[in-house]
Amino acid sequence: MQDMYKKSIMDLTKDELSSVVKPSFRAKQIYKWIYTSYVDSFEEMKNLPKDLRKELDEKFLISPLKILAKEQSVDGSIKYLFGLQNGLSMEAVLLPMKKEIRDEDGNVVQSSKYTICISSQVGCKMGCAFCLTAKEGFKQNLTAGEIVAQVLEIKKDIGIAPNKRVNVVYMGMGEPLDNLDNVIKAVKIFSDPDGLSISPRRQTISTSGLAHNIKRLGESNLGVLLAISLHAVDDDMREKLMPINKAYNIASVLDAVRNFPIDQRKRVMFEYLVIKDLNDDIKSAKKLVKLLHGIKAKVNLIYFNPYPNSPFQRPSEKDVLKFQAYLREHGVTCTIRESKGLDISAACGQLYEKNSNTTKGK
Ligand code: SAH
Ligand code: SF4
Repeated sequence: MQDMYKKSIMDLTKDELSSVVKPSFRAKQIYKWIYTSYVDSFEEMKNLPKDLRKELDEKFLISPLKILAKEQSVDGSIKYLFGLQNGLSMEAVLLPMKKEIRDEDGNVVQSSKYTICISSQVGCKMGCAFCLTAKEGFKQNLTAGEIVAQVLEIKKDIGIAPNKRVNVVYMGMGEPLDNLDNVIKAVKIFSDPDGLSISPRRQTISTSGLAHNIKRLGESNLGVLLAISLHAVDDDMREKLMPINKAYNIASVLDAVRNFPIDQRKRVMFEYLVIKDLNDDIKSAKKLVKLLHGIKAKVNLIYFNPYPNSPFQRPSEKDVLKFQAYLREHGVTCTIRESKGLDISAACGQLYEKNSNTTKGK
């Protein structure tokens, strides 16, 4: 199916592009046009010979994505619905983390900060019981270009300056480690200094715990940050919430984490979705402290965010705060995730196509 469509030039790393266009410095020029001059056509790449522009235009398209819809939350986050060439769609979310502040002379005292939450697949195979994306089943892997284009299209749409670096979290639709080759390629394209220049240290890959691919990701030594969606402290409960736990139990995931290369100053993030009367008690907090012993970890508590007919409930604030206090008292760094974009279902992992016709393909 994919072959019916033109390949996006954004699928190529700069090395790959250098072997397609000669002389190789052209690759650098093309990267700059696309990622830092925000051009939409090869025609606009004025320092390329006319013949080459024509050839590229015949072979490639630039962006493989179209913005189909946009929804803004009261807290400022914006959810984007993107259409792929074959009619499927997926979502990404812009999360403004800090606003720009200027003093009375107009000097910037705090610069704006953005995080963009991106999808790695259309749908997901993992079938987690609490996740909306799981309900749709799995449709297809995204290509590296489709992963990268989410960030470029959002930067362009909002008018974020090309030299403004954003953070990227792979926490949208899909399981990034189930599409590892394309994700690794995307990490490289993102980090290219002639492109978006997003260093791997600004890219967080979140996984439900595909231990063998945590190992592979570690071996590729990219320097990305790792987040583990743990959510439960014993295998029985985790299996019920996350069927993947049958293939990779908690011990095997933690083992892979222990061997994962991380920057000395960084920690592995453990996401813990707090669900009312299920995993929100101090007994669970106690077990969590034990499990994480010896790992440079930080825990991010996430309020379960209910959706229509969801089988679980949101925990009380009191219980979440008690859980956090217990972890902190026992030496575990712990934050509570601000649930951004809740009113528009744009919290990470909450991406769901309301108009399901557009996700079915044509
Ligand atoms: N597949 C990857 C990345 C996408 S999910 C993973 O599972 O890690 C990213 C995060 O969104 C996960 O930590 C997940 O637990 C969270 N999430 C999923 N459903 C949610 C819900 N209903 N409320 C709050 N967070 C949710
Ligand atoms: Fe997939 Fe992550 Fe949702 Fe589980 S939580 S179904 S792994 S997207």
